[in-house]
Amino acid sequence: MGLLDAFDVEKRKLELIDKALAKNPRKNDKRICICGHPLSRHDETNGMSCRPARFDCPCVRAVAVLEVPDNRYFLARNEGSGEKHALMRGIFMAQKGMPDRFDDEAKLLVELKCMNPACGNETNLFPVRCDVDFYRIYDSNKDQGVTMFYCETCREIYYDSDEAIAAKRQMIIKNNT
Ligand SMILES: [Zn+2]
Ligand SMILES: [Zn+2]
Ligand SMILES: [Zn+2]
Repeated sequence: MGLLDAFDVEKRKLELIDKALAKNPRKNDKRICICGHPLSRHDETNGMSCRPARFDCPCVRAVAVLEVPDNRYFLARNEGSGEKHALMRGIFMAQKGMPDRFDDEAKLLVELKCMNPACGNETNLFPVRCDVDFYRIYDSNKDQGVTMFYCETCREIYYDSDEAIAAKRQMIIKNNT
């Protein structure tokens, strides 16, 4: 006897409800934003809001970077850059929770290259929490809802050096042309 038989519910109805829910496009969207949370938890109707769980994420721009077989692992709080970033922790937890499926089915939706336009290196990247001008902020600072993928060099420069200012100028020019 199955456990469900102990309840006064019908298998046939459960089946129908399951099908109906699976058709819901919000549920079907398995894309993950650069903030580390499912795109389906974002709402752009009144400015941007991202509410992955019982907390709000300050994400200001939804950028789909990953498609995953199951997005329930991507609900962590952002605690900083790199290993403290919700996107890295989500991937880590998904790989632990569903090792085979995740590695087979997860795919990148962006090219992995440094997002500093003056660099663009295709190398291993670090998710960096930034302010709205794309400067790296310290992990102890308030999350401003901006994540950039920077290479090893750029992520260090991007605190407050001359290089950062020059690169920022280039970014502004690029965005305005
Ligand atoms: Zn987001
Ligand atoms: Zn978010
Ligand atoms: Zn770089």
